[in-house]
Amino acid sequence: MEGKTHAIGGICLGIATQSYYITQSMDAPETIVYYGACLLGSLLPDICHPGSWTGRRARVLSKGISRFFGHRTITHSILFILLIYWLTSTFSFQYDELVQTGLLVGIVSHLLLDAMTVRGIQLFYPITIRVRFPMYMKTASKAEGIVSSILVLSALFLIYKQLFA
Ligand SMILES: [Zn+2]
Repeated sequence: MEGKTHAIGGICLGIATQSYYITQSMDAPETIVYYGACLLGSLLPDICHPGSWTGRRARVLSKGISRFFGHRTITHSILFILLIYWLTSTFSFQYDELVQTGLLVGIVSHLLLDAMTVRGIQLFYPITIRVRFPMYMKTASKAEGIVSSILVLSALFLIYKQLFA
């Protein structure tokens, strides 16, 4: 999937998580931190592609991961989710819980979306089986456009529900 679809997906799952699982109300800085983390998390797994938005911002790391692990392997797996969980649990800092939740939500949204593509993902890396939903599509295809439109509509619906229902 393209970066923009992942970004929309991360925000959308972020809103859903906020409305169903995060019970405390968030003030403005907390909201910015949380959604910033969702956005970052939704783009982070593609650090294995040196040409992606994330890859271009962390070029050396990206090239290293790409050469050592290949595309869509470790950064698209349960292992990566555990690694980010561990890293964000190890250090305590301001807003750490919101950052952790946001990052994990973003990464999960990324994996869900990439599991809808032809290549699927290696969810159980280092076991190399590819995981893919029964319905899948090509990256940057019309179908992806439809998925991102559905995500935008879902996000708007969730925002509406949160504000007015
Ligand atoms: Zn990806």
